[in-house]
Amino acid sequence: MSENLLSSLNESQKLAAQHIDGPLLILAGAGSGKTKTITTRLAYLISIGIDPRSILTLTFTNKAATQMRERAFNMIDPSMINTPPLLCTFHKFGLLFLKFHMSELNRKNNFIIIDTDDKKRIIKSIDKDITTALLVSEISKYKNTLLTPSEAVKAAQLKLYQQIAEVYEKYEAYLEKNNLVDFDDLLLLPYKILKNNAKLAQEISQKYQYIMVDEYQDTNELQYRLLRLLCTSHNNLCVVGDDDQSIYGWRGATIKNILNFSEHFENTIVVKLEENYRSTDTILNHANQLIEHNRDRLGKKLVGTRMKGDSIKVYESHDENEETRKIVEDIKQLIDQGISPKDIAILFRVNALSRSLEEGFNKAGLHYKLVGGMKFYERAEIKDLIAYFRILTNSNDNFSIKRIINKPKRGIGKTTIDKLEAKSVESERSIFDLIQNLDSSEITSIVGKKNSRTLKVFEASILDLKELLSESKMKFLDSFEETFDYRASYDNLPDGFERQANIDEFYGYLRDYFIQNPHLDLKDFLNEIALDSENDDYYGESVSMMSIHASKGLEFKKLFIIGFEEGFFPITGDGSDLEEERRLGYVAITRAMDNLTLSFVHSRFYKGKRASLTKSRFLSESGLIKGCLTIEKQSGFKKGDLVQHKIFGMGRVLKATNAGKDYKLSINFGGTHRDILSSFVQKA
Ligand code: ATP
Ligand code: MG
Repeated sequence: MSENLLSSLNESQKLAAQHIDGPLLILAGAGSGKTKTITTRLAYLISIGIDPRSILTLTFTNKAATQMRERAFNMIDPSMINTPPLLCTFHKFGLLFLKFHMSELNRKNNFIIIDTDDKKRIIKSIDKDITTALLVSEISKYKNTLLTPSEAVKAAQLKLYQQIAEVYEKYEAYLEKNNLVDFDDLLLLPYKILKNNAKLAQEISQKYQYIMVDEYQDTNELQYRLLRLLCTSHNNLCVVGDDDQSIYGWRGATIKNILNFSEHFENTIVVKLEENYRSTDTILNHANQLIEHNRDRLGKKLVGTRMKGDSIKVYESHDENEETRKIVEDIKQLIDQGISPKDIAILFRVNALSRSLEEGFNKAGLHYKLVGGMKFYERAEIKDLIAYFRILTNSNDNFSIKRIINKPKRGIGKTTIDKLEAKSVESERSIFDLIQNLDSSEITSIVGKKNSRTLKVFEASILDLKELLSESKMKFLDSFEETFDYRASYDNLPDGFERQANIDEFYGYLRDYFIQNPHLDLKDFLNEIALDSENDDYYGESVSMMSIHASKGLEFKKLFIIGFEEGFFPITGDGSDLEEERRLGYVAITRAMDNLTLSFVHSRFYKGKRASLTKSRFLSESGLIKGCLTIEKQSGFKKGDLVQHKIFGMGRVLKATNAGKDYKLSINFGGTHRDILSSFVQKA
């Protein structure tokens, strides 16, 4: 069994997969089988009798976790896995941990996870003067470097930073008071708990005897420290990574973690993998050329194992509409040829670039999914329903009450909400508590008679539903829909149809969740979806669109990368990091298996205006433009252009006319005129 399992690995991979005790570092370039190796190791450990429950595998995205789980389980005899090993994102692990151990911080475990959007709104409500984006990122930085609010206040020297530290203090107090947890807390709070409780750290590390981490180059200080605590009793930590693919520097990830791994963990065995199994030689070659422009790297060997393959195409277009047209056209052809949409992806450095693509896809009737984009659960109508559910699991959640107290419309205006909130702050009681427990004259004095009646009706509905929820989840759902009839509030609205479709989808999903997981309750559901960024698989097989960050670790047979323009890719200017941009370029190109198309435009509509752009330096750095025969120019030919033909040599364009995807060019080759399609020449 275990021999069989290892048969698809090369010798170094085998060595790594069979490693059992002690720290192991697999350091290797893109597509060299790092993920495959640890996936196989997971299966191998189980096949030799190690209890699956004692193996913990951590990844960065849900998608990576799902893929790895499927692959590992395919390799194992099902009878070996009574309880599956835990394989999840760092954040999911944090969530599970907190569910059991939140009480160590004297907090209840009915906490609610807030997402980025919630976080922004809370921060904005605390301070309106400083840019919210700055506050959000600074606070996150503090948390990830383990700086407490009081330490941040002390450390701040500039006035701005003093203010930021104060917002941080208030923000933390707000989260604690409402028992909310942000994404950073999912790592930070487990760390704090384990740090302060050596016995528990010992226990947990005894539970997870074998720990593996994919994409270790993107861990930050906090994740490293958390891992250390998890390994307290054994040091059986196996990590894989690639310094050339470190792309989260802006979020505090530190390449030092991987560079210093052998020092952090004594007796580390280092395995290097030097063959790339993913991409054609051509693709790999250009990726290598690009990354060689970085100075700050270890420098690794990575040779191809596949054929030379097709040339990389480079599309040059006037604007994003032309770019989209070309890509849509190509993708249609690919699908006609029988390529599965699942094998096709489009990547971009800047999220906003997806808009014109989405439009083009919709027009062409092509199915796509936007991975990690505006997620299903971030849509307003779904967030409203989630807010209702949050109140049903924790009625003291002021944040959610404020969101839905007037949805659907009940005549409760902003002034009323503000008054309620002011009273809530002053009396240190939640809004719901006030509605429920103040006597009617008191509540009337705050919000008026009519409103007080409305609020009482609202309260009664919530209490009834809560009771029903404890009896039957299905009955609860029926009654919930009936009581608030939130869906009807979108009747006859311009985008009502789509929103109602989302609402139906959500109810359907929730019902299914309860049927599949009878032992789980509404609170579990809420916390799971807060972490779930891949619930966009509603439309069957579709082409993926995503940011380069989201594409980490994935691979696609046919890949398109758009936006190769200075300013968009690389992002330039203040605070940008050219080497990290280049690593992003390397990550992006190395996602491609068989075919790769890159695209740049002369102008884009961005942030309300049209900007002129020049092509990215990465195109020449990767050897794709200038002196390279792989460039494909489908547009922009005009009279007077100098062009090069393989056989006829250099010539000048006399006339250019559109001919389908190509241009028909009349060219003067040293006195001889010839008509030639533009795809047979390149601009000189
Ligand atoms: P990345 O750095 O992008 O995360 P990786 O090093 O994790 O890449 P994998 O995703 O594990 O690489 O593997 C890349 C591709 O190569 C996969 O399709 C995998 O199945 C294939 N592969 C890996 N090792 C071998 C091997 N020994 N023989 C054949 N194919 C392999
Ligand atoms: Mg990988």
